[in-house]
Amino acid sequence: MNKQVIPLPAMPAIMHARCPRCRRGEMFTAPMYGLKSQGMNKTCPHCGLTFEREPGYFYVSMLISYAMFVAEMIGLAVAISVLTGGSKNPWLYISVILTIGVVLSPFNFRYSRVILLYWLTPGLHYRPEMSGDNYSSNK
Ligand SMILES: [Zn+2]
Repeated sequence: MNKQVIPLPAMPAIMHARCPRCRRGEMFTAPMYGLKSQGMNKTCPHCGLTFEREPGYFYVSMLISYAMFVAEMIGLAVAISVLTGGSKNPWLYISVILTIGVVLSPFNFRYSRVILLYWLTPGLHYRPEMSGDNYSSNK
């Protein structure tokens, strides 16, 4: 049996919302723009990590998604202003920003949790030994 573990790169794991500890297990139960609701696995299906580190842990991700939404609104407002040559019509800004804000909300929901678990959770790091095919969470 091959015991060597090849570390998995971070960026594909982040983009596909994989577990931050093993980079293998899916964090979410459904695709981002599927018809099913945005469910999240309680534990990693590969390594068994509990994603909600403590009760109410994902309240913090609401702050992150709020910051993401504000950044997107500012970016959109600048883009509209540049593309329309400095339009002064507030309804143009409101309608475009709210429409794109609704379209981006599943993205914000998902990646606010990814950001929280990957970068803002102390003591949670990638463990390459847990990403192998033979690793089992059963202890
Ligand atoms: Zn995992």
